[in-house]
Amino acid sequence: MENPRTNRILAQSAKREDSERSLVRSNRSDIVEKYLTDESAIFKGQAEEVAFPETEIQVANLLNDANLRKILVTVSGAGTGITGSRVPFGGIVLSTERLTKVPKRDSMSPTLFKDPIAGVEYELYIAKNEHYAIVPPAISIENLQKVVERNGLFYPVDPTEKTAFLGGTVATDASGAKTFHYGPTRNWIRRVRVVLPNGDLLDIRRGDVFSNDRNEFEVVLCSGEKIRLQAPFYEMPNVKNAAGYFAKRHMDLIDLFIGCEGTLGVFTEIEVSLTDRPERIFDCLAYFLTTNDAMRFCDEARRIAKSRDKKKEEFDLVAPLSLEYFDRCSLEIQRAKHPDIPSKAKAAILFEQAITEERFYDCLSQWNALFEHHHVANSWLPIDQRDKEKLTEIRHSLPEGINDYVRSKGTHKVATDIAVPGERFNEMMRFHVEIGLEVQVWRVLVDLGLQYDSKIFQSLTLPEKVRLAEDRVGIHSPEGGTSPDVEAQPSEQDYESLADRIDIVRESSKTEVAYAIFGHIGDFHLHFNFLPRSTVELDQMKRASYRLARKAVELGGTITAEHGVGKKTYVDDGIEKPYLELMYGIRGLESIATIKSAIDPNWILNRGNVVSAEYFKH
Ligand SMILES: Cc1cc2nc3c(=O)[nH]c(=O)nc-3n(C[C@H](O)[C@H](O)[C@H](O)COP(=O)(O)OP(=O)(O)OC[C@H]3O[C@@H](n4cnc5c(N)ncnc54)[C@H](O)[C@@H]3O)c2cc1C
Repeated sequence: MENPRTNRILAQSAKREDSERSLVRSNRSDIVEKYLTDESAIFKGQAEEVAFPETEIQVANLLNDANLRKILVTVSGAGTGITGSRVPFGGIVLSTERLTKVPKRDSMSPTLFKDPIAGVEYELYIAKNEHYAIVPPAISIENLQKVVERNGLFYPVDPTEKTAFLGGTVATDASGAKTFHYGPTRNWIRRVRVVLPNGDLLDIRRGDVFSNDRNEFEVVLCSGEKIRLQAPFYEMPNVKNAAGYFAKRHMDLIDLFIGCEGTLGVFTEIEVSLTDRPERIFDCLAYFLTTNDAMRFCDEARRIAKSRDKKKEEFDLVAPLSLEYFDRCSLEIQRAKHPDIPSKAKAAILFEQAITEERFYDCLSQWNALFEHHHVANSWLPIDQRDKEKLTEIRHSLPEGINDYVRSKGTHKVATDIAVPGERFNEMMRFHVEIGLEVQVWRVLVDLGLQYDSKIFQSLTLPEKVRLAEDRVGIHSPEGGTSPDVEAQPSEQDYESLADRIDIVRESSKTEVAYAIFGHIGDFHLHFNFLPRSTVELDQMKRASYRLARKAVELGGTITAEHGVGKKTYVDDGIEKPYLELMYGIRGLESIATIKSAIDPNWILNRGNVVSAEYFKH
């Protein structure tokens, strides 16, 4: 059937007040320096100057001029990205930090909000009854949440790093813990104004422009030139996913721009959907004596949360907004600062739940019953402000502990961002544990001064590797069920006992923890964090990380569920390739490059992100 909706959009020229005001720019090296890295601490770029536009027309003029002169422009939000996506490869950095106001609306009154610490003033519009807000790109997620909550509303996308700008989160389609319930950023964006690399402007409202039956869009530029955009041909995995441009049959044009990592345009105004602020949200941390107990608990909580007929459920009030997992190594890292974390706990699940004041205690008693079913060893529900702050500290002590560790060793962390379909999650989990134990055993052997050929080591089964480490420290593994048959695939209990045995070996060899696995288990999305302490380990761990990413793709998942690919690469047979190639292959990258070239023929904007110009076939 012919798709009746339009696939065509007309570009506008940016018309905004105060075109008289001159653009603030600086080429002072101490200022430029601040924009050459991001939170990945891996990529270091270079740029000639930084520009600080305050209005859309300034963004448009800057891009138009840079495009005519073929000067590279890299867009910077708050710089909290961890893929190098705002790191410039020369030219100008376009900092969005002064885009803090949206132009006047005749029919609405503005909301003014001042960040009490930074002193920055924001001007936005909140349509309380209609549940949306028109917001400038440089407002931080923290401030956006505060200002809408004052109006009884709620913006539920909550990346851990709340200093990120809304514009950055739209460009990366960021997620957060509550994505389990509320979905990623994309689900909350209803309109964007985006300046294209030539300075033309698109005002894209969700639901207005869809790709046609050939999956094409038509963009008519101000010059009258018509650009044909063929949506990417690849199929996206059916998981939480931030890899590459969005792709779907009859897709909405707004979705092509959300998550494009700033390669197609600069967001200057964003309309977000809002929901009602829940009466009460509580967090709870549950500790388990085995990983399996934590997994079973999570499976049930997830099943109840997604159940279509909640009323039929025994636990009808159980409705987690998030389900977050911490493995035994994560708890060990957290224990360094919080020794009261139960010493026997081998896993933890942190969840949040929204509830009315009236049903709060009924809801807690249902969770308690669920805890009993799943052998929760210990649970903690912060009630007063001090406890809530302590929980935040415990959560932060993990990334902080990891970052401090790798910094002290002069390396950097290597982390995955993979998600797989639910039915393949157990398989992925086993592979996670296998890789973790492998890097840990290797580190033990190194600490014990054993020079082992890495090829021979790889050829050993996991139980053999563990036995090798035990032999080396003179521990004899217990007879019977705890020592799995080396020929057979270890069961989940076997993995648990292998991990316990390695913990004992580590105690004896005084070997530090080499990895930590944590993250958004509700969405089958975990971060495997390697903690390299030398360049040799860094190389080894990078290879292990690619094995994890490959496995995720093999299982029908994604290499990046929330961070995007930015400038990340991997080495295959000695050749450096864009990270995204692992997932969509060369043809997938070519289809992205074709869209990029159509919108940005000179490849001036955010060059190096997602895909390089080499993939563009003329
Ligand atoms: C400790 C920590 C925890 C994190 N937790 C999460 C998490 O839970 N979930 C998650 O998804 N991410 C997380 N991140 C990653 C990061 O916070 C997100 O990627 C965030 O979306 C980046 O926003 P930013 O404003 O800092 O953008 P930047 O890092 O400055 O830029 C990111 C990308 O967005 C582009 N961009 C920025 N503004 C615009 C604009 N106005 N128009 C067009 N393009 C633009 C840039 O060019 C770049 O490509 C975490 C990072 C850290 C350090």
